[in-house]
Amino acid sequence: MAIDFKEHIASVKDFPNKGIVFRDITPILQDPTLYREATKRLAEYAKSRNADVIVGPEARGFIVGCPVAIELGVGFVPARKPHKLPREVERASYDLEYGSNSLEMHKDAIKPGQRVVVCDDLMATAGTLRASKELIERLGGELVGAAFYIELPDLNGRDKLPGVDIFSLVQYH
Ligand code: 5GP
Repeated sequence: MAIDFKEHIASVKDFPNKGIVFRDITPILQDPTLYREATKRLAEYAKSRNADVIVGPEARGFIVGCPVAIELGVGFVPARKPHKLPREVERASYDLEYGSNSLEMHKDAIKPGQRVVVCDDLMATAGTLRASKELIERLGGELVGAAFYIELPDLNGRDKLPGVDIFSLVQYH
């Protein structure tokens, strides 16, 4: 199906801060055909990487990653903001395009040797992906790929993760 996802992504100037153009994916989610097609494309990618597990960073990574895991027939692991998970966690800190944060995963969320694909709505500086990679590796997993609806290549996220395979549906320069 020839879908131009860009036609269904809203660009919002000066959100959440002045000078930022926020790429809003909610119009894709509102349309079941588009949401299913985006999910299918990311699931095909994750399958090509032989993923055993999908990791999704809070919060839009849940929206993107959960249906991919179901489509693929593998488990889903949330990477959450601090103090949300009830059991023993690993924590990693990262810088965002705007601000900074930390992510946590349950210590038993990934089994040693599992092949992991991270799914999220957008890759900007790749700080979120780097923190996810650190957590996945500390738990004994292997990051075998990352899949996004949107990539901002001018922020050079790929350069910070040499050797990590990255897939995106659309790019904004
Ligand atoms: P990074 O860590 O790669 O710099 O930033 C990516 C993270 O920030 C993702 O989790 C993503 O949800 C969020 N993010 C940053 N900028 C945008 C944006 O313009 N639109 C959306 N939808 N998310 C963004």
